[in-house]
Amino acid sequence: MAQKKAPSAKKSSTEAKTAPAAVKNTAAAAKKAEPAEKKSEPVAEKNAPAAPKPEAVAEKAKPAAKKAEPVPVKTEPVAQKSEPSAKKAEPTARKAEPAAKKAEPAAKKAEPVTKKAEPAAKNAEPAPKKAEPAAKKAEPVTKKAEPAAKNAEPAPKKTKPAAKKAKPVAKKTASAAKKTAPAEEKVKPVTENPAPAAEETKPAAEQAAPVTEEPKTVVTEPVQPKEEAPMEPQYTTPRRSIAFIGSECHPFVKTGGLGDVMYALPRELVAENCDVRVILPRYACIPQKYQDQMVYRGEFYMDLGLTGRSYYVGIMEYVHDGVVYDFIDNQEFFSAGNPYIGLVDDIPKYCFFSKAALAALNYMNWIPDIIHCHDWQAALVPVYLRTMFQNSPVGHAKTVLTIHNLRFQGIYNIPTLKYWTGLPDEVFNMGAMKQGYEDANMLKGGLAYADRITTVSYTYAQEIQTAEYGEKLEDHLRYHSDKLRGIVNGIDYGMWNPATDPALAVNYDITNVLEHKWQNKLALQQELGLVQDQGKFVIGLISRLTNQKGLDLVNAIIPQVMDGNTQVVVLGTGDKEYEDTFRYYEDAYKGMFSACIQYDESRAHRIYAAADALLVPSRFEPCGLTQLNAMHYGTLPIVRETGGLKDTVQPYNIFNGDGNGFTFDRYDAGLLLDAINRAKTEYFVNRYHWDEVVQRDMAKDVSWSNSARQYKDLYLELTPW
Ligand code: ADP
Repeated sequence: MAQKKAPSAKKSSTEAKTAPAAVKNTAAAAKKAEPAEKKSEPVAEKNAPAAPKPEAVAEKAKPAAKKAEPVPVKTEPVAQKSEPSAKKAEPTARKAEPAAKKAEPAAKKAEPVTKKAEPAAKNAEPAPKKAEPAAKKAEPVTKKAEPAAKNAEPAPKKTKPAAKKAKPVAKKTASAAKKTAPAEEKVKPVTENPAPAAEETKPAAEQAAPVTEEPKTVVTEPVQPKEEAPMEPQYTTPRRSIAFIGSECHPFVKTGGLGDVMYALPRELVAENCDVRVILPRYACIPQKYQDQMVYRGEFYMDLGLTGRSYYVGIMEYVHDGVVYDFIDNQEFFSAGNPYIGLVDDIPKYCFFSKAALAALNYMNWIPDIIHCHDWQAALVPVYLRTMFQNSPVGHAKTVLTIHNLRFQGIYNIPTLKYWTGLPDEVFNMGAMKQGYEDANMLKGGLAYADRITTVSYTYAQEIQTAEYGEKLEDHLRYHSDKLRGIVNGIDYGMWNPATDPALAVNYDITNVLEHKWQNKLALQQELGLVQDQGKFVIGLISRLTNQKGLDLVNAIIPQVMDGNTQVVVLGTGDKEYEDTFRYYEDAYKGMFSACIQYDESRAHRIYAAADALLVPSRFEPCGLTQLNAMHYGTLPIVRETGGLKDTVQPYNIFNGDGNGFTFDRYDAGLLLDAINRAKTEYFVNRYHWDEVVQRDMAKDVSWSNSARQYKDLYLELTPW
């Protein structure tokens, strides 16, 4: 750890002063890490399959410090890459100045909050030169912005309207981008080319029209305005701007349902009259084709906690389907091949990310109405916002924190979290981040500071307030229950559509599912080396292989399920014990059991299309997406009645034929087997009714539109102007 501090100590005398304290903190952290590690093991399950031993804390940190030194060097290529766009930006940069000035006083006001707040305020106030390009969008607002900038010094409130004025520009550019075809071109209007934005800005366009078109009106008077009018979408609710902040998002990086939600919900919100910007880490593992399409948006340096160092924050932008994606760039934190490594690495990474995301919003001068953050990785955002960023422009935003899975919380000992966050002491009390005697819990802090908490189904919102599902936060959640609600997830119909899905052997829809679905079954059987027989009952299981997913129940009953007429296809990766057991079954039931121990999106699509039923016997399930995908592909779910599974799968009623799938309640292998046997009976004995359910499931609305409307209502509730 001493080595880690050495480079920063060279930088300045002030930094040198902070270094020894930091050393003490981290040394203490390393010592204290021992119990913390033990405690955090179950919490780290998803993100840290191999939790390092306590001794490794200090050791691991060393290379991080070494890596730290060359950061600016590493980032150079990014800056170089972006040079062209930066150059293009020059003309508009001048116009941006007033906006940049506005940011300054707000940042100054952050200073008195605490000593630690000072650096945060500085972060909010990026290097003036670099700030210029960020505010290019402000062009149409320039005239109005000037007086605001002059007045801005004493009155932070005046920065608010200025920020609001900037919004329409961003809104228009988002919609402008939507209309343009190639991705790179889409990006340009946002950062570089003010002209299209100005054209689309309502007031500007309205004012310009009479001036330039007046002479023409003699000729085209009745025609032109009428043709343009229908192009405007009709919205029933007022426009709001939302910043999504989270750790993964399809198609850039996805390890589970969070990635799907971060992709689909923003797109759906655009249709609900929202202006959405998604802020993500720029992981090195993001496919090159997306990296190549990102456009440099700016950069600044930010301090972090008690590290005494200044960290590079680059912003790379990518626009797609009306959604702007801003990637926070820092190779020191985001260069690993996987987004989640282990808490020792992930805690500093997401402390940095949460703070950098807020600083980036200030830097870009894009102040959203709502900041919607997701899971523990972004849970510090509301905490930073209401402390160190409260008096900066972004401090005006309201926050929503969504729990996608309460099991993962980001817990570590208090000294370590104080070191990496620099948050004031009051945040580390029992009402916020403190947990037990010596731990701090990032999610717990976020829940305390967020204006609203959501989780991804109504039932899970109730369950997490009980000891059985509350993951030790049930009391905290009950305390905040007035701001907690459940909104069930949907699926993206563009991504999940059996009629157009390019991964399938044969496409089908509700009108011809009974004729074509079995062809996909034969194709999958061939692909996986299973006995090719359309008469076999094929059960799919697509899942992370962890104990959350009820796999111990599955393993216990496989011998009874394998009756000669049933095939099982497993797709997933995770805990070795499950991977090995499924491999064993593949060997034991050759041609009838397939264990695909891999992550393969396209194969997942083919299994949804080919299987007759899909197993989701989870111990707990916040929402679950696989059962929704399955139903949409005419594959009947067999689920445990918990969380979102309970909310989305109506149990099949053998007397009147109603329902969507087969369910069981208690977490018990015998009950799972019973549900599978009921499904088999319907399939083999009562096929007519089975086929009816197939079509009913395909017709069921599992899209995002309903849920997106509920989120929009929530945003409006928080911003009732
Ligand atoms: P969780 O978020 O708990 O992992 P969800 O059911 O909410 O579970 O979301 C899982 C998503 O990840 C689904 O879209 C599913 O198709 C996908 N998925 C899970 N495992 C795999 C895999 N091995 N290969 C491809 N896709 C997978």
